[in-house]
Amino acid sequence: MGGPKGPNILVTGTPGTGKTCTCAAIAEATGLTHVDVGAVVRAEQCHEGRDAEFDAFVLDEDKLCDALAPRAAAGGCVLDFHSCDFFPEDWFDLVLVLRADTATLFDRLKARGYHEKKLQENMQCEIMQVVLEEAHEAFPAPIIHELQSNTVEEMEANVDRVKQWLQQWRADNP
Ligand code: ADP
Ligand code: MN
Repeated sequence: MGGPKGPNILVTGTPGTGKTCTCAAIAEATGLTHVDVGAVVRAEQCHEGRDAEFDAFVLDEDKLCDALAPRAAAGGCVLDFHSCDFFPEDWFDLVLVLRADTATLFDRLKARGYHEKKLQENMQCEIMQVVLEEAHEAFPAPIIHELQSNTVEEMEANVDRVKQWLQQWRADNP
């Protein structure tokens, strides 16, 4: 929807695809505010504890949306999160789904110290394009863009595209 401070962008994708790096670069290039949703989950306790089997927080999606709603309404945010199907459809003007090649993602998650089970789970998630399908269930196709995020050059190109998209958005929403 965008607000007084501009449009909202969601950057989503399997862990390790480059969301946090890309959001930081978008924020730097555009002045939009990077919102690390995982940090909000922890800081505002938008979860029901950790799931031992999956080694991840069990999200309280309603509480998380309540916590994020004022920022979404103000606009000008780049949200950074690995899942997306519980966000209100009208929060975002642009949804970017980052993708990485299997070998690239494997190396990144290994470097992050993920244990075998979590590593395999996330690799499967990327191979089965779970997040891309989730995005398509939650948002209209025209605002969803699948972007390769394997190299620094690809990341720079993605940030450039966002800059251009933002210029157009500002021209269309004076
Ligand atoms: P996410 O937030 O999606 O889990 P990060 O942004 O933390 O992913 O990136 C994971 C790792 O991959 C980091 O070490 C980061 O430096 C590296 N990385 C991310 N995007 C790229 C890219 N486009 N090219 C090269 N390395 C990248
Ligand atoms: Mn991240």
